[in-house]
Amino acid sequence: RESPTYHRRPINHGATGRVPVSVSRRRTRTVVTGGAGFVGSHLVDKLMARGDEVIVVDNFFTGRKENVVHHLENPRFELIRHDVVQPILLEVDQIYHLACPASPVHYKYNPTNVMGTLNMLGLAKRVKARFLITSTSEVYGDPLEHPQKETYWGNVNPIGVRSCYDEGKRTAETLTMDYHRNEGVEVRIARIFNTYGPRMCLDDGRVVSNFVSQAIRKQPMTVYGDGKQTRSFQYVSDLVDGLMALMEGDHVGPFNLGNPGEFTMLELAQVVKETIDSNASLEFKENTADDPQKRKPDISKAKELLNWEPKITLREGLPRMASDFRDRFLKELDGDFDK
Ligand code: NAD
Ligand code: UDP
Ligand code: UDP
Repeated sequence: RESPTYHRRPINHGATGRVPVSVSRRRTRTVVTGGAGFVGSHLVDKLMARGDEVIVVDNFFTGRKENVVHHLENPRFELIRHDVVQPILLEVDQIYHLACPASPVHYKYNPTNVMGTLNMLGLAKRVKARFLITSTSEVYGDPLEHPQKETYWGNVNPIGVRSCYDEGKRTAETLTMDYHRNEGVEVRIARIFNTYGPRMCLDDGRVVSNFVSQAIRKQPMTVYGDGKQTRSFQYVSDLVDGLMALMEGDHVGPFNLGNPGEFTMLELAQVVKETIDSNASLEFKENTADDPQKRKPDISKAKELLNWEPKITLREGLPRMASDFRDRFLKELDGDFDK
């Protein structure tokens, strides 16, 4: 296959030989796949604020144009509707590869992880870009080790209803390490634990978005099973800080990026009551198959090597998310809503 050469823009030092401030540092050109999604769009905001040229590649499967619409007029920003399962040619320095349906209700319908990751690694290899994959705590499956360290190999059912996601991400990590070892691609691996915040899909199906939506709409919060299973919830700005620290740092990973504060679903419902609606009620429903019983990250590695740790507690983060959800519900009622 013909491979176009990657041209770094020449730096013009001018007649004096002194480096003019405006051209002394070439802008980093960064692609964010899945950049119109929940996490991706917050990452894009921060990269744009840093001064990068940012290209978002997204097929809008679960993402929304509305999440990035505020950048459309900016000449440093480009939005490409594209499915990463298909090859794509771009000239970039960094690739944040997030594209993937992340919620259980969505991911069963789309095995993006393998083909999409292969194409983005092929791209990284061709243009010598640094590649970061957003893997997941789901690679630990229903963990037999608690809290989970990066050295734990996991306990995943290969044929269960969640396997498409778990095994897809495990394969994506494998491909990433293969391209690193065999092709010399610079890679970074993040294992993200449950994350919440503004711009999450309203109909996402994940527990935080469900409880917050239900509390705002005065519907009972649906607790699956007995509600004693645990998760650790991270606010999205903490995750974005972690992803950028990882990309800019010297370590491949994998790194757990999550908030170690662990809550049962009943405790989460209680925090929603305390921070959003004190009258919110509960409704118990049958749990889904293969639901992990506990999950909590050990983040000592990220603390030590990336100098990163989350700052926002659940009690601080939930009201911020609720205010975004309220605005969007109101827009929905006004009919001013694109999806
Ligand atoms: P999201 O669904 O909001 O974002 C995913 C984005 O990828 C969407 O904009 C979607 O349209 C896009 N996309 C999906 N398939 C695509 C394809 N084939 N081609 C191009 N674009 C495609 O989800 P999110 O929560 O923002 O997740 C982002 C990443 O973080 C995912 O890789 C996910 O697996 C990972 N992650 C998220 C969490 C979490 O709690 N949010 C936890 C662990 C891992
Ligand atoms: N690829 C891509 N963009 C590029 C380079 C590669 O989408 O700029 C895709 C390519 O089409 C292939 C995959 O990435 O499907 C892996 O590429 P690689 O060159 O590693 O493998 P090969 O094409 O040699 O099998
Ligand atoms: N859950 C729940 N009510 C809901 C949605 C989910 O009790 O309305 C539970 C679910 O059974 C699981 C936990 O919340 O134990 C987290 O589920 P989620 O889908 O948010 O994330 P994941 O299972 O991928 O960690």
